[in-house]
Amino acid sequence: MAFPVASINLAALRHNLARVRALAPNSQVMSVIKADAYGHGVIAVAEALADSDAFAVARLSEGIHLRQQGIEKPIVLLEGVNTEADFTAAANYQLSPVIHLHSQIQLLQTITLPKPLQFNWLMIDSGMHRLGITPEQAPAALTMLKACDNLSGEIGLMSHFANSDLVGDKRNQQQLAPMRALRQETGLAVCLANSAAVIAYPESHLDWVRPGLMLYGVSPFDDKTGPQLELEPVMQLKTRLIAVYDIDAGEEVGYGGDWTAEVPTRIGVASIGYGDGYTRHLSNKAEVLLRGQKAPVVGRVSMDTICLNLNDFEQAVVGDEVILWGKAELPVEQLAELAGTIPYELVTVICPRVQRELSDG
Ligand SMILES: *Cc1c(COP(=O)(O)O)cnc(C)c1O
Repeated sequence: MAFPVASINLAALRHNLARVRALAPNSQVMSVIKADAYGHGVIAVAEALADSDAFAVARLSEGIHLRQQGIEKPIVLLEGVNTEADFTAAANYQLSPVIHLHSQIQLLQTITLPKPLQFNWLMIDSGMHRLGITPEQAPAALTMLKACDNLSGEIGLMSHFANSDLVGDKRNQQQLAPMRALRQETGLAVCLANSAAVIAYPESHLDWVRPGLMLYGVSPFDDKTGPQLELEPVMQLKTRLIAVYDIDAGEEVGYGGDWTAEVPTRIGVASIGYGDGYTRHLSNKAEVLLRGQKAPVVGRVSMDTICLNLNDFEQAVVGDEVILWGKAELPVEQLAELAGTIPYELVTVICPRVQRELSDG
């Protein structure tokens, strides 16, 4: 059997989408499945999340891939596109590139697309200063877009929170205010809330919500785990022991000899490393689950392997399953904190070398 494996629980995906619906009962749901569905495998995830009202990815290539694999729902390209060729491809594949620059509007006024773009969104910079035009520029931009033959149907207003994971931070209200005002003024649909806002800011739900991380059962807040928010973790990352042996007190383990056995120690070697996306920042810090118990990672994470201290594991043998994260005792949020990063990154960087295995329940 191949390993390492990222086991993807499709029932958990459906549960988490139902959780979004329960939290935001009056909003439509645009499920964010960019970056290969945060490393979970985009086609299987899109199929499991078929109850979404629309999907969002970052780039044109991601949208084309979904269309080529038979996904038919509206697909928003959150980064937009900037050339006639890319607008033409978006139109041909019925993808919806977000408009976030004046130069995009100007281009749309000069070219003739094979068919009009549908399900269009204008990105407003309500304070994050990443992508979008200012709220003040929005009315004039909307006038131009409504007059443009390359677009058909209503245009929605989109924006993105910079601090929604910081519950109670006043900058969130400062971003919400101009979006509410524009909604009032134009009567157009607004799409603002990412996962943290879906959970923590009901007043930001408005017409459409746009969750990513929570669909994968992971918490956007650094003091909570998915299960504490009634989410079910979707990914379980696991591998196998490929060696077990004993070393003497005083012997060093791994590159740089970063860990020294203080007593005679049984070492286990598990087949996963930074070449699979298991970050090197977990060297000497992480724990894994083996036979239902936690075993510490000792020494540096290598490209293909990690070493474990198995002194409490008399029975451990080559071939034993080793779980890296995705169990209640070993949440990915906790490993992210140990690695000095966010759980978004740990799941997203899992490499193609790790086999995705689908389970259902
Ligand atoms: C990635 C992304 C999201 C999803 O954010 P989560 O925190 O994962 O819910 C929503 N909107 C935009 C513009 C994004 O880039």
